[in-house]
Amino acid sequence: MLKRQDILRIKELLRRPKDIVILVHYNPDGDALGAALALSMYLKQKNHHVRVISPNAFPEFLQWMPQSENILLATQKLDYCQEIIRNTDVIFCVDFNASNRVGLLQQVLESTKSIKIIIDHHVDPSDIFDIYYSVSENISSTSELIYNFLIYKLGEKDIITSDMAKCLYVGIITDTGSLSYACDNPSTYRIIGRLIAMGIDGEAIHRKIYDTYSEDRLRLLGYCLSERLRILHRYATSYIYLTKEDLKKFSYKHGDTEGFVNYGLSIKNIDFTAIFIERDDRIKISFRSMNDFNVNEYARKYFNGGGHKNAAGADSFLSMDETLSYFEKSLKESKNQQ
Ligand code: 5GP
Ligand code: MN
Repeated sequence: MLKRQDILRIKELLRRPKDIVILVHYNPDGDALGAALALSMYLKQKNHHVRVISPNAFPEFLQWMPQSENILLATQKLDYCQEIIRNTDVIFCVDFNASNRVGLLQQVLESTKSIKIIIDHHVDPSDIFDIYYSVSENISSTSELIYNFLIYKLGEKDIITSDMAKCLYVGIITDTGSLSYACDNPSTYRIIGRLIAMGIDGEAIHRKIYDTYSEDRLRLLGYCLSERLRILHRYATSYIYLTKEDLKKFSYKHGDTEGFVNYGLSIKNIDFTAIFIERDDRIKISFRSMNDFNVNEYARKYFNGGGHKNAAGADSFLSMDETLSYFEKSLKESKNQQ
């Protein structure tokens, strides 16, 4: 919800040109980028000085997005990004709910005196923000929230340009698995309808995101499914794990494993799945579930992670073997309690 007094406060803040930062989470996805870029285009129309900052790089299949070439990466310009965050008037925190989601920018985000406005769809936002537009029920994505923010909260009926529509479309499509989950809500379809009615080419966007695999990436997927997929029927659970050597073998590039986790749920009678990917200093885990198994709660309880009811993530600092055996043990407890 966005309180009436907060809407007035935002309108007052934006009445005169301001220096504004839009910050997204580490490993930004289509929703984080779509929401951030659309919001930045709106604010630029209103003569604000706007910079979009990402803690790190984003996948190649999103690098065509309008104005994505202007996004500042903290991994490339850390001092500069920190300085901007320290000195800007307003920071829109988009598609994340806690400061530990912004990697190297965590400390400066916590200590800056700038006004922090969160626009996000994850449950239980932390208390570091000044203004909250945080909705986690009946909402597909942060991009849907940005649409509602501009049209209904700020009352900007005709503000959405074709480039903004493309960005919001990417956000909604990628966060719902092309309208297959988190979208049982007529308003998501109404917004998609309005974006398409603006003349954007939804099919072409879909192809840019999903049909541009490299040969290595497609073969890595094949390898995951044939060699690295384990199924634990007893717990209605499946998982995939990938070691650093596996990634090297297929010349892994940033973003190549995006979406792989979902394959584990496409098996009959499986309602919980995970993917474990070995990085330099940690194992990055993604969880997905169907129906009532709450992976946000699961990830918090067992891996100090979080996310949504049916999609969450976490880090493990154990070895791969230890992580997997801890995971299997956790199933005994969590799945038997269901
Ligand atoms: P993904 O598996 O696509 O990386 O993330 C799924 C969801 O879980 C996202 O909404 C993301 O915000 C959340 N998430 C991913 N990794 C982490 C993590 O390490 N900690 C927390 N708290 N949430 C995460
Ligand atoms: Mn999102």
